[in-house]
Amino acid sequence: MCPRGARLLAGHGGLLETTKIIAHCLLIEADGELVLVDTGFGLGDCSNPKRLGQPFRALVAPACDENESAIRQVEALGHDPADVRHIVATHLDLDHAGGIGDFPDAQVHVFAAELAAARSPSLTERTRYVSEQWGPSPIWVEHGAGGDSWFGFESVRLLPHLDAEIAMIPLPGHTAGHCGVAINTSDGWLLHCGDAFFFAGEIETPRRCPAGLRLFQQINQHDGKARHRNQERLRELKRDHGNEVTLFCSHDPQMLT
Ligand SMILES: [Zn+2]
Repeated sequence: MCPRGARLLAGHGGLLETTKIIAHCLLIEADGELVLVDTGFGLGDCSNPKRLGQPFRALVAPACDENESAIRQVEALGHDPADVRHIVATHLDLDHAGGIGDFPDAQVHVFAAELAAARSPSLTERTRYVSEQWGPSPIWVEHGAGGDSWFGFESVRLLPHLDAEIAMIPLPGHTAGHCGVAINTSDGWLLHCGDAFFFAGEIETPRRCPAGLRLFQQINQHDGKARHRNQERLRELKRDHGNEVTLFCSHDPQMLT
């Protein structure tokens, strides 16, 4: 995404300069199966950007380059997209769920509260969800509050048949059923925090965030109180366990480089 307003969104550059906002997706190889975390924009968004809606396109200027779609990047890595058996969705906002329809046989793991909000959006949330992105018959796997614990956070272990340890960590606030996704790697835990925060400085102490990004998050929040509480908890997680867990958000290109 290439919106104008670099200084307000990235904290440097000119007021009218464009900046680059990315959407981190992860591909996990486990026991011959592939698991995708979030899907960014998909082929359908590239062939028909209009489905994203005029206000969104005017504001964030998505590039919609087919080569940047998850399916083309999976292919470029030498994999067969049919091996993507599972998609884990941090949430279903249009800049995260665009590629779901490109993997029609994959099970899509999502929090039940998120799917309910996306299927029947309130008037104020109608533009953030685009059901066309999900394809004609998505295979949803809904998850709810789990009994497990992960560094003090509630967690729901996914796909226990795989050797990879993957868990959904409820972090509501940005949307109704927004989650982080924790993955245990040989280099320690990764926590994909989705849109729980937008800027690396937000989980530093003291907190830092460019004004435009702060406003953007406030305008697009489902529950401000929950969002702030979860950001605080992520700040504590980074402070207390930063050597065991690598935290990153969807949209900051400086993170997970
Ligand atoms: Zn987003």
